Amino acid sequence: METKGILTVVSGFSGAGKGTLMHALLQRYPERYALSISATTRKPRDGEADGREYFFKTRDEFEKMIAKGELIEYARYVENYYGTPRAYVEEMLESGRDVILEIEIQGAMKVKEAFPDTLLLFVTPPTAGELERRLTRRGTETAEVIASRLCRAAEEAQGMDRYDYLIVNDDLETCVEEMHSIIQGEHSRSFRNTEFIQKIKEDLQGLKGE
Ligand code: 5GP
Repeated sequence: METKGILTVVSGFSGAGKGTLMHALLQRYPERYALSISATTRKPRDGEADGREYFFKTRDEFEKMIAKGELIEYARYVENYYGTPRAYVEEMLESGRDVILEIEIQGAMKVKEAFPDTLLLFVTPPTAGELERRLTRRGTETAEVIASRLCRAAEEAQGMDRYDYLIVNDDLETCVEEMHSIIQGEHSRSFRNTEFIQKIKEDLQGLKGE
């Protein structure tokens, strides 16, 4: 069966709990998944480290990465650039790991265009009110940033139906297992196993002829 990894994009409203979910998934199945680390021009938040949450870049450095073709995709989000470095993703997919990109919707659509086999997952809180509560509770952003993120969420909601699966983030444990089952189930899709199908067909033809 399919040995190459599956490229999975996870999007969701800022504050939907994607980050926590991704880390729980990776902690539980470290051999199975690789999480791509993005480059960004946004300033690190308290507790974030360069090379762990993001590769923090100046605008100039970021624009050089674009020019050299080092990013699979990039997008502007609330006044900053965010982009996915190509090398790590390709290396991990080749080695058979399922690679997760936690990126926003414009980037997700660009990845899907460049790699049509990409699996698109959208993480959402159970209600809009819950999203607002989670954003406010995080306490790391100013009222202005929260307002612009809610505004952006309303825009992003317009694209939710372009994703393959929705994941309602209510209970973390349930969510981790749900995401794992979806991605692993994806390995069995017939379109991802064309070589396997071809081989069985040929072998059966051979047996029939014996
Ligand atoms: P934050 O500033 O909260 O860490 O991220 C803001 C948004 O940027 C989130 O929706 C996140 O998923 C998205 N994002 C992070 N990395 C990338 C990336 O490499 N490409 C794109 N297109 N979006 C990203």
